[in-house]
Amino acid sequence: MAVERTLGIIKPDAVEKNNIGGILAMTEGDGFVIKAMKMVRLSVPQAEGFYAVHKERPFFGELIEFMTRGPVVVMALEADGAVKKWRDLMGATNPAEAPEGTIRKSFGTNIGENATHGSDSLDNARIEVNYFFPGFEVGI
Ligand code: ATP
Ligand code: MG
Repeated sequence: MAVERTLGIIKPDAVEKNNIGGILAMTEGDGFVIKAMKMVRLSVPQAEGFYAVHKERPFFGELIEFMTRGPVVVMALEADGAVKKWRDLMGATNPAEAPEGTIRKSFGTNIGENATHGSDSLDNARIEVNYFFPGFEVGI
């Protein structure tokens, strides 16, 4: 399988609950290499730009309010097949439907406050990594 990079975000709910360390331990424990990482408070325009694909969804306002209410941890994660592997480690969007051993089962609260984000395709992973780490190249 090809080595890929994906964008992971530890969302405000997980940061508020002191779960950064637990999530990073699961991430590294599953074989991901953290190639870049920073803790930031997203502005409303930054969050709206990042989630622009969802702007017509009924929960968009709620999502932007949630994602900007406190700091997040943004990570470029590398592994074989990283895009699918990270979504598998996160589990379903709704933590109640996420399998045991997944991040959202362990740390998610509900369908909106679900602890982490992950890119949903390799193309979007490139766009999203570049959104937060512009100019970020292999080998850093
Ligand atoms: P993410 O993109 O954050 O990795 P996902 O790909 O599993 O999550 P999406 O359908 O892309 O899920 O939704 C983006 C985010 O919007 C979800 O992670 C969640 O925070 C929020 N969300 C999705 N569905 C709902 C809903 N029905 N009510 C409230 N918030 C929702
Ligand atoms: Mg998504």
